[in-house]
Amino acid sequence: MNYNIALLRGDGIGPEIVDSACEVLTKVGEIYGHTFNFTPYLIGGAALDACGIPLPEETVKGCKESDSVLLGAVGGPKWDTLPGNMRPEKALLGIRSALGLYTNIRPAKLFSAMADACLLRRDVAERGVNIVMIRELTGGIYFGERGRRDGKYGPEAYDTECYSEMEIERIAHVAFRTAMLRNKRVVSIDKANVLESSRLWRATVHRIAKQYPEVECTDMLVDNAAMQLIKDPAQFDVIVTTNMFGDILSDECSQITGSIGLLPSASLGDTTCGMYEPIHGSAPDIAGQNKANPIATVLSAAMMLRYSFGLEKEAVAIETAIENVLNDGWRTGDILGASDATPLSCTEMTAKILEYIK
Ligand code: NAD
Repeated sequence: MNYNIALLRGDGIGPEIVDSACEVLTKVGEIYGHTFNFTPYLIGGAALDACGIPLPEETVKGCKESDSVLLGAVGGPKWDTLPGNMRPEKALLGIRSALGLYTNIRPAKLFSAMADACLLRRDVAERGVNIVMIRELTGGIYFGERGRRDGKYGPEAYDTECYSEMEIERIAHVAFRTAMLRNKRVVSIDKANVLESSRLWRATVHRIAKQYPEVECTDMLVDNAAMQLIKDPAQFDVIVTTNMFGDILSDECSQITGSIGLLPSASLGDTTCGMYEPIHGSAPDIAGQNKANPIATVLSAAMMLRYSFGLEKEAVAIETAIENVLNDGWRTGDILGASDATPLSCTEMTAKILEYIK
């Protein structure tokens, strides 16, 4: 089969890690008889530099016409002082919205070989971490009304959290369907003791839960959830939460699984065309130094094979290769932990993964 993939390399380490994932996809294609065609488009700071806007129309059109989208990361200090609507990060919200990608799936699994890089106490880590976080992606405070105004005490700024029942219903269905394929437990995370939008969130999730009687559905306030993820991550199976809470808690998950350089994500809507990206940012501190860990992006490519193309055994081939690379002790700098091994560069880690793909 032939698959057309739009590449949004973006900024910082984006180009390095996306190129790694393309090499891995090409190798998988050679082994399993598929052709992956890659077409690059500009996004973020790179697009600002080239054409003055963070999300050119050509990029949106190219992504819409592709079978799937692979994104590196956007942003960096060079563009940090631009006004909000011209910032590279604005392009992320724009492309997610343009493609109707309201679901963000973020698996957080502690590879057994990574126990040393995990910041949790060993006995807590040994109980295991295998969480799928379902984050709502096109609503909530990141998309609500915002602005500046003159307030009682002078200039003030505001952002608005707003969720419709429809937005909550569709993400709840994704969470329950995901749980049905796993351990049938959903924890819905909100701030219903304070926020009205959270009270609607909670009531709606419970209404949808009635359609999935086999799934146990419980609620957790976000402040408690931040604590429970550290105290006992093994208690979680599927988490469903809002755009902002999911953004923050998934970074926390990265530290209980070893490194942010290991965690992939899939953003999906109602069609098979999804967008796949690591959960980390453009890491300006290590950009251009060949130090980035490509694993999160390569695992994102595996999610693309599974969710957009239905290529399960090809996805497993990539995931198994990475697990074996880690089991054999190969590490990039961010996952060295207490090991005194020499860290691999981004290109060396990519070569290792290619070598292990069967
Ligand atoms: P970051 O995720 O880029 O980096 C945080 C830390 O993790 C840094 O020390 C970095 O070196 C390290 N790190 C991240 N990815 C790594 C990898 N693959 N391998 C090894 N180490 C890695 O977060 P930040 O520093 O807060 O943000 C930097 C820029 O990225 C900002 O402009 C921010 O807005 C942007 N950002 C973009 C996205 C996105 O494109 N999806 C997401 C988050 C942040």
